Amino acid sequence: MTYFLQVENDTTWLAPYAYAIVLLGFLLFLFRIFENWYANRFDRPLLRHYLVYKNISKEQEKILEEEFHFYGLLSKRHKREFRHRVAMFIANKKFVGRQGLEVTDRMKTLIAAVGCMLSFGRKHYEYSLIDYILIYPEEFYSTMNEHHHKGEFNPREKALVLSWKDFENGYRITDDNLNLGIHEFMHAMQLEAKKSRDLDSTRFGKQFQNILKRLTHQEVKNKLDETRYFRSYAFTNQYEFMAVLAEYFIESPIEFKEHFPELYDHTKKLLNFGFAGY
Ligand SMILES: [Zn+2]
Repeated sequence: MTYFLQVENDTTWLAPYAYAIVLLGFLLFLFRIFENWYANRFDRPLLRHYLVYKNISKEQEKILEEEFHFYGLLSKRHKREFRHRVAMFIANKKFVGRQGLEVTDRMKTLIAAVGCMLSFGRKHYEYSLIDYILIYPEEFYSTMNEHHHKGEFNPREKALVLSWKDFENGYRITDDNLNLGIHEFMHAMQLEAKKSRDLDSTRFGKQFQNILKRLTHQEVKNKLDETRYFRSYAFTNQYEFMAVLAEYFIESPIEFKEHFPELYDHTKKLLNFGFAGY
């Protein structure tokens, strides 16, 4: 019976497996290099999505269909990807209601949907700098800068803070260029781009520089002054400019493109928005 306890010394049978594992590792390494080269060369990720699909519930899908305009603009394949991303987002973030607010499934679905819409062209769509979504019923007092706020992104606490009332108005009225969710998610995305070096962040940095360069052109400056197209808050600083730019891009792409075609083009590349008619 001791036979079973004997150590088997002959391990040559393992060799083919070992070779296979080394070869696979090497191929994966080559793929990563090619993936990065491709992203730099063509300004977009080679693959945004691998094969795994998680799904949301039927009720959540209904919310997207009935209340989320962008979802209806997607192809069948993109819808499946979108549902996967919304499901992952909801599973990985902690939603916390403030001032007695009860967080509903509808709130989670719509907040996740806005985040995943803005990051839909990216491979890394999950906002690594956000762990918590704090939801207030309406405007709240911010200890971060001692003012009343509709929303804020707090990187120290890894929290996105939203007034539900203003968030709802943001996505529901789709053409007033005010979208609180987009605005705050853009702050988180921009800071992530500053801190990481993955292909999405590299692309963000590159297109952000193009946008800044564009803004130094006299003709663009003149046009910004004349048209007063972007609301004045955009010119507070670089971060607010990008957040407001994203709101305009999402809400009124046709008008934006008409007024500032180059800025539109850089923003589209920055977000890799090649779907839903953008
Ligand atoms: Zn802001």
